[in-house]
Amino acid sequence: MYERLSIVTRSQERLEDITTRVNDVLRSHEVNEGICYLFVPHTTAGIMVNENADPHLATDFLEHMRALVPASEHFRHAEGNSHAHIKAALVGHSLVIPVEDGQLTLGRWQGVFLAEFDGPQERTVVISMQSTSPITREEPVTRAPRRR
Ligand code: ZN
Repeated sequence: MYERLSIVTRSQERLEDITTRVNDVLRSHEVNEGICYLFVPHTTAGIMVNENADPHLATDFLEHMRALVPASEHFRHAEGNSHAHIKAALVGHSLVIPVEDGQLTLGRWQGVFLAEFDGPQERTVVISMQSTSPITREEPVTRAPRRR
């Protein structure tokens, strides 16, 4: 099962909490138990798990990423956004999260964020879902006798 989420990021640098949207996709595909793969096909945006309880954390995170990788006039990349490429690479482009009871098995304070470093833009998150629910637990597996 496969789906693409479209996310419009609202500023140049931003963490967009997409947890609810990913859980909605899992529900719509009736994935009760399994694995959810999330992939961001962009070079200046990434995806990560972080705390989603305190909105100040996103501000702190982005501020410190700017301090870690400041925009510089000395970058060779002609587009002028090397800092955004570097930040996205540090954050990473994919996640693998187990699914239980029809939703991501995140910790109490965790959320899934699209990390935008060169917005505002329309971004895509590719979601691939694999259900590992057993076919039935009640019925024993019966095999047809082998024919010769
Ligand atoms: Zn670039």
